[in-house]
Amino acid sequence: SAARILVAGGAGYIGSHTAKLLAKRGFEPVVYDNLSTGNRSAVRWGPFVHGDILDTAHFARTIGRHKPLAVIHFAASAYVGESVEDPAKYYRNNVSGTQSLLDACLAGGVDKIIFSSSCATYGVPALLPIREETPQRPINPYGRTKLIAEHMLHDYAAAGGLRYVALRYFNACGADPEGELGEWHDPETHLVPRALLAAAGGIPCLDIFGDDYETEDGTCVRDYIHVTDLARAHIMALEYLVGGGRSLALNLGTGRGSSIREVLDTVNRLTGRAVPIRINPRRAGDPPILYADPGLARKTLGFQPEYSDLDTIVRTAAPFFGLEARP
Ligand code: UDP
Repeated sequence: SAARILVAGGAGYIGSHTAKLLAKRGFEPVVYDNLSTGNRSAVRWGPFVHGDILDTAHFARTIGRHKPLAVIHFAASAYVGESVEDPAKYYRNNVSGTQSLLDACLAGGVDKIIFSSSCATYGVPALLPIREETPQRPINPYGRTKLIAEHMLHDYAAAGGLRYVALRYFNACGADPEGELGEWHDPETHLVPRALLAAAGGIPCLDIFGDDYETEDGTCVRDYIHVTDLARAHIMALEYLVGGGRSLALNLGTGRGSSIREVLDTVNRLTGRAVPIRINPRRAGDPPILYADPGLARKTLGFQPEYSDLDTIVRTAAPFFGLEARP
């Protein structure tokens, strides 16, 4: 029978896209999720267990029942702004939650972990592009909790008993090209879905947070990577660990930076709808420019993005906002 993969947080945005791809590749994804931000209807490719990673005993029982080959750990809180307002939630879910999950893995004999980390662990980088060796100096509680979890993985691995790949996502966006899964967050704060919402008339306008940055057009530059590419990187990381690969952290980005205006221009060009905008002050904690050096993921996993050009990102996401994008 198919090798089972326990997907903590598999009802969420990136987790559900990964569960779908796991099933396509012949694995059985077992989704474990507390549905605090995830969506039950996004769990369609294997069993669902309603549970919290902070419940170590429940997670350990789930391991005992399903005997997974590996755990992919997406279950976390992921709003920068909220992490400043409510750091306790972030230390509880992201730090204590990860420790609880790892302890259950050790107890249950799961020795391969794939972890969702973030470019937020780098803070404002001194040098671009961002390499894995770039010093990690997070500037908000969210980034700090992800970095602490990386350190925890590193120390647990060094003591023996497990190996891991920590994947440092840049800006996840886009939606399932087959149209089965979209991007949803409640509240939705991310640029691409908000731009599409504004284009569709669902919100009055798109607030641009700062147009006076030291960038070509004054708006922030990010490395946008399609969620289906991120999902595929998880499968490759899984195969890497199954093949005996050693523990490591990898950037997942394209190596290309795009400004907010470039994203809005793409939405406009492909949907034929103007995105109404309003210029706002800078958002606290936004670094001006972030983009990855994607070389290590290419070298160690053979990973290269396929869907992560802005046109494909906007084309796959637009239908979820009732918009038609021209081919
Ligand atoms: N942004 C914006 N308006 C929005 C949402 C985001 O101007 O409604 C900007 C944000 O300040 C940042 C970039 O778009 O410079 C990407 O933001 P997002 O929240 O999508 O991802 P982040 O970079 O914070 O992970």
